[in-house]
Formats: sequence, C-alpha cells, structure tokens
Amino acid sequence: MPNHTAMDPSRRRWLRADFAAPRPAPCLPWLDAERCFAHCTRCGACTAACPEGIVAAGDGGFPAIDFARGGCTFCGACAAACPADLFAPERRAPWHARVVIGEGCMTHQRVYCQSCCDACEARAIGFAPALGTVPRPVLDDAACTACGACIGACPVGAIAWIDNGRKQARAGEAGTLRETATG
Ligand code: SF4
Ligand code: SF4
Ligand code: SF4
Repeated sequence: MPNHTAMDPSRRRWLRADFAAPRPAPCLPWLDAERCFAHCTRCGACTAACPEGIVAAGDGGFPAIDFARGGCTFCGACAAACPADLFAPERRAPWHARVVIGEGCMTHQRVYCQSCCDACEARAIGFAPALGTVPRPVLDDAACTACGACIGACPVGAIAWIDNGRKQARAGEAGTLRETATG
C-alpha cells in the first residue's frame, strides 16, 4: 500500500524552516543586475509601486524580487515608477530566467502535494502519475514565465529561480539543484 500521506501543517512549517529560505533575486523584470548596480539610486520608488509587495532590499540595498512573498505579474508598475528610467519594458524580455524543481520536493518522500501547481496561473506545472507512489510535478519550460509564484507556494523551498544570464540559483535549494524525476 503506497504511503500517500497528506502533510500536517505543523510539520510543513518545521520543514520549511529547515530548508534554505528563498532569497531575493538579483534583478527586477526588464532590469538586469549589472544595470541596476551601475545606475540605481536606491530611491525605493519601485518597491513602493509594486502592487504585489515583492520588491525588497537585496544585496547592498538594491531592489530585488523576493519570491517568498509572491510572484511577478509583469504589470510594469515598477518600471513606470523608476525616476531614473532604468527599465526597458518596450525593448527587453522581463528576464532570462527559469525555475527548477529540485529533489527536495516532498513527492520524493511520497508526500502528496500540489501547491506549486495551484499557484501557477500559466498552468506550467503538471503532475505525472507514478506507479506505487504519489504523482510528481513536471515543469513545462515553454509555458513557464519564471514569474516565481510557485516558489513561495512550495512548503519546503524545493523550487529555485535561476538567472540564465548569471548562472546563479537564487532561491530554494541553491547548490543542490537537479531536476526532479518525472516518473
Ligand atoms: S512588474 Fe509588477 S508585480 Fe512584477 S515586480 Fe514590477 S511592480 Fe511588482
Ligand atoms: S515560475 Fe513558472 S511554473 Fe512557477 S508559477 Fe510561474 S509560470 Fe508557473
Ligand atoms: S515542488 Fe510542488 S509538489 Fe513538490 S513539495 Fe514543492 S509545492 Fe509540493
């Protein structure tokens, strides 16, 4: 009999505290880290403008996305609020990034969970049936916008956001990333 165990909320909190918490990403949409570090005055206008409340102080007090608070809706309010006009939403993709679901995903311990799927408006996370265990999440890279909404939704911080330009994992299981098995 498979152990399809629903997760107790107190155990979920304990597990979350035990894993690395998501850290602010190094850039905002349409504003890469290099340009930000070189020209941003840290005035805080983008932080105040974000309706999702996900722009936080990152390295050196420069603005950064904190995916623990939620995902980016690409509304453009941060870009419009910047008095230095550093963002370029009309010329650039919001970012060159992707997310990865790591092996810390609870389904590897046969714990039933689909929180990431529920958080994904793009419907980029599906669940593959697996014989003798719980279904595991499968990410559709083509559909994923790297909005990050799934990152804070994961009870154990198993999802990482990776800046393809800088080859850095900035959230969840930084340093131990391997794509989750699909079977
Ligand atoms: S695009 Fe909108 S939701 Fe995303 S960081 Fe900027 S203000 Fe926040
Ligand atoms: S980062 Fe990708 S998989 Fe995660 S919620 Fe956003 S679109 Fe969905
Ligand atoms: S990656 Fe998805 S299915 Fe796995 S523990 Fe996190 S939220 Fe749950």
